[in-house]
Amino acid sequence: MNKLLLKKMVVCPLLLAWLPLAALAQPKGWNDPFPPHKIMDNLYYVGTSQLSSFLITTPEGNILISTDYETSVPVIEAAVKQLGFNFKDIKILISGHAHPDHIEGDPLVKEMTGAQVVVGRLEVPYVKAFKNPKGKQQPIDRIVDDGDTVSLGGTTLTAHVLPGHTKGCIAWSLPLKESGKTYYGFLECSLNIQGMQFVGNTDYPNIVDDFRATHKKARSFPVEVWASSHGVFYGLDEKYAKLKARKEGDPNPFIDPEGYQAHVTEFEKKFDEVLAAQLSKAKAQ
Ligand SMILES: [Zn+2]
Repeated sequence: MNKLLLKKMVVCPLLLAWLPLAALAQPKGWNDPFPPHKIMDNLYYVGTSQLSSFLITTPEGNILISTDYETSVPVIEAAVKQLGFNFKDIKILISGHAHPDHIEGDPLVKEMTGAQVVVGRLEVPYVKAFKNPKGKQQPIDRIVDDGDTVSLGGTTLTAHVLPGHTKGCIAWSLPLKESGKTYYGFLECSLNIQGMQFVGNTDYPNIVDDFRATHKKARSFPVEVWASSHGVFYGLDEKYAKLKARKEGDPNPFIDPEGYQAHVTEFEKKFDEVLAAQLSKAKAQ
């Protein structure tokens, strides 16, 4: 890895989010703690400063979505504890999309909690091939497809496969209640395209068609409350600042249907630009 790339990674750590399943050290600062907080109802943020993890609490135990790096796990554990919950009460672990910064911690969380590990079917080959830096095998206990549900203690999450960023990227929806109203909650996977090859990608020949279908599908959800695999995608810093300053009667800052649609539009535009540039470069060669 050359010095310039290394420098770029520090300046723009998101560059790493797309990297293939190589075991790289996590970018500096990504595991810094972030204040854990309630998003709405029984949905909590327990991730690090750059990597999202979500806890869904129920009377029959809790669900964790995404473990991040193995070195993120103690940060997540501390966040769960700080909210007053027991890490060992995690009964189900929904694995994040199949990139190291979302799944490397799965074996450790499985060891610590014995949770059932849920993985999307299209991610299974990559999860199995993933070279965990400690040589651990990635756990897979249940495989899910588009439309499948995960239920525990009265809460049900629905899987929505939105391929492109990975071949089986899954977003999860769940109903969330606040002040007598029920909102459509949506935990987005990722629409990030940084560093991706759209022309002549032999590992993922239908990547362009997948992304196009995903942008269309992403718009179709009646999203009201949303979050994503990286805080930067949904304006976590700004929304958390609003949450902290929130007074009675103020709206919950995570209710953001327009922000969600704008996010899809922004990432679709980036995709179109990069695809056009790659196509014209290929033509010129
Ligand atoms: Zn990723």
